[in-house]
Amino acid sequence: MGETIFSKIIRKEIPADIVFEDDTVMAFRDIAPQTPVHFLIIPKKDIPTVNDITEEDAQTMGHMFVVASKLAKEHGVDESGYRLTVNCNRDGRQEVFHVHMHLLGGRLMGRMG
Ligand code: AMP
Repeated sequence: MGETIFSKIIRKEIPADIVFEDDTVMAFRDIAPQTPVHFLIIPKKDIPTVNDITEEDAQTMGHMFVVASKLAKEHGVDESGYRLTVNCNRDGRQEVFHVHMHLLGGRLMGRMG
């Protein structure tokens, strides 16, 4: 599986503002936040895109939602609301080819483009 900047963050080779970590998932602040709360929730396993997710990843993918829910509560956007986004390939505007879930909150967002 391919190396990305997120692989380096997982190995702590480059710094990140980590807000959650366990054996299978990590979450950190997006370096260019689009909203007051903007986290990236990633599997520790190198999975390039949603197209590469297999049945063996199902538990980790589900766990990412549990982590998102926990972070939303901890950072006070659970009641006001938030958006979870996973971009895939060119039309989805994916830039980093390691599966990641954006947690966006803290302001009213536009409708989906
Ligand atoms: P996507 O378009 O879904 O692939 O988004 C990739 C996201 O990764 C963008 O929102 C970037 O701002 C973010 N990003 C890129 N490099 C870093 C980094 N070193 N630390 C934190 N976030 C990053």
